[in-house]
Amino acid sequence: MNILHSVTSVLFVHAHPDDETISTGGLIAYLTSRNIRVSLVTATRGERGEVVAGPLSPLAGTIALAQERERELARAAVTLGVDQSFWLGEAPARAPGLPPRRYRDSGMQWIRPGLAGPAPDSETDALARAPLAEVTEDLVAVLQHLRPDLVISYDATGGYGHPDHVRVHDATLAASHRLAVPYAEILDIPAADAEWLDLDASRDTVVAALRCHASQLTVHGDDIVHSGGQRDAIRTAIGLRLR
Ligand SMILES: [Zn+2]
Repeated sequence: MNILHSVTSVLFVHAHPDDETISTGGLIAYLTSRNIRVSLVTATRGERGEVVAGPLSPLAGTIALAQERERELARAAVTLGVDQSFWLGEAPARAPGLPPRRYRDSGMQWIRPGLAGPAPDSETDALARAPLAEVTEDLVAVLQHLRPDLVISYDATGGYGHPDHVRVHDATLAASHRLAVPYAEILDIPAADAEWLDLDASRDTVVAALRCHASQLTVHGDDIVHSGGQRDAIRTAIGLRLR
């Protein structure tokens, strides 16, 4: 089994700016270093996320936060070697005939450590409240535009339950199956039916890309410190399982 064998172009679909680097930065850097064309679709601008305490704190809750996170994502994408980066809801990641739209970050709340659930006060334009069919059609459109050999996104839990991640999984899997494009879900731990890639050679690139997301996180040694203070080890290994 080698999911990446003979693949020349890969589309990653993520929910928020920084997800591409936190969960798949090592893999993206590995692929682009091998001249595999990587495209990225990001569904929301992380509008609901907290802001790292410091010079960017005043951006919290303002329209300027979305603009800052657009810039941060653009810098991270360049750092990782991403070829093309798109926003869900805007061409080419928008169904033909529909006006462009922004899918807003739906927010989340912790149900228990490590498991997120829906925020009680998501806005009406939140991604998690958008019709699944609409989101799926947008992804069908970008898949038809890019024609990647492989799509990579979350597993059915969205990694940790965030409603935006779950919606991205549901819509991306449906769109991939519709067009018969192979879909690989991201795993954080090895599994017997998954391929495990240890990509620590990409660590320096991942750290550089993480530092682009200064409104969301800081890097302390081998750890990511999120705006809320939670720490996670920087991950460069990743599992992929075909669905
Ligand atoms: Zn996310």
